[in-house]
Amino acid sequence: MESHQPKLLLIGFDGLDYELYKQFRDSDCMLLPSLAPIPITGPSWTSIYTGDSMATHGVRDVYGFEFRRRYSHNDFIHLARWYIHNFGLMLRRKPPLKRWATCQTTGSTHIWRTLSDAGFSLKTIAMPISCPAAEINGTMISGFPIVDRKQWFYPPSIADNIPADYKELADMVHWFSDPERDKHSYWGDCLREMGVEAARPRIIETTDRLLEFFTSLPAADVEMIQFSFIDRMGHGFDMAGEVMEFCYARVNALVRKLTEAREPGSTVIVSDHGFQGDDHTDYGVLALAGEIADRVHIPEGYTPSVLDIAPTLAGFLGTEHPCEGNNLTVESNYVTRNDESEAQEKEQMKEHLRNLGYL
Ligand SMILES: [Zn+2]
Repeated sequence: MESHQPKLLLIGFDGLDYELYKQFRDSDCMLLPSLAPIPITGPSWTSIYTGDSMATHGVRDVYGFEFRRRYSHNDFIHLARWYIHNFGLMLRRKPPLKRWATCQTTGSTHIWRTLSDAGFSLKTIAMPISCPAAEINGTMISGFPIVDRKQWFYPPSIADNIPADYKELADMVHWFSDPERDKHSYWGDCLREMGVEAARPRIIETTDRLLEFFTSLPAADVEMIQFSFIDRMGHGFDMAGEVMEFCYARVNALVRKLTEAREPGSTVIVSDHGFQGDDHTDYGVLALAGEIADRVHIPEGYTPSVLDIAPTLAGFLGTEHPCEGNNLTVESNYVTRNDESEAQEKEQMKEHLRNLGYL
């Protein structure tokens, strides 16, 4: 039994929906909506880690196409690469230009870098779009997409401890495919072929084993783990009815098991966007329990966003994470943008991503 308890435990769920979690959660917490300006997995998780908007961090694709910061506004390059990528898929080859957005190539700073440099130890497991692993004070094993030719875990000495099927524990997409060849429709079809009945016990088994692996690793001041089954089941079968009930019962079970196993000073539950029916929604979750819940005060009329998570975690731990988001542990004038221009901008962005085939 590990004696060292984390100051902060962050539990991520891809696609955990604010409205649905409000309805199904069985634990006491301060439950806030977390607005995702771009409700897409790749950009939104990166905003959670960096506190920056997509235009700044440059990660635009659901699977994390990689762009240098100075190209992040260049639509022509995006479009050209998208077609070259699909041409490669058509020829049944690994697309030559499919590369991965990572902590190495985005111009923004990730929260694990800030906290590690501030002297905190960390343990992060299966966080999406975190490959290759950063050299931090502690343990980092990347989440989807895990790319073999990159260093996807740190430190290298941990190799022998990682379960042989870690990738399949970390993300259902790895049950079916090589992520470097991946297409949304491909694993979705495989999942539907497998069926809900077969998927359920496998989700229970893989999430439990990921959780056991997580708790078996050395303890740290800040611990992070992520589960992706809500998003995947939503894309496979729609997030409604029995599938929805199963997924949210699983969320409750995992939150309970993790907090019992780790007994953290504070727990934070986050998601990159919501999921209802057959589509992502704009409101993910920011749920707080323990000491951090007493430190966060949201002014009337303000909705937290995914950009506020990294600076708030840093602020709670007494350090600073410079970014575009707001540190919600200090009472100040939070930056809110004009609703109308934001809505307009978002529609333009969604339209653009739709044209590129991302949505
Ligand atoms: Zn997602």
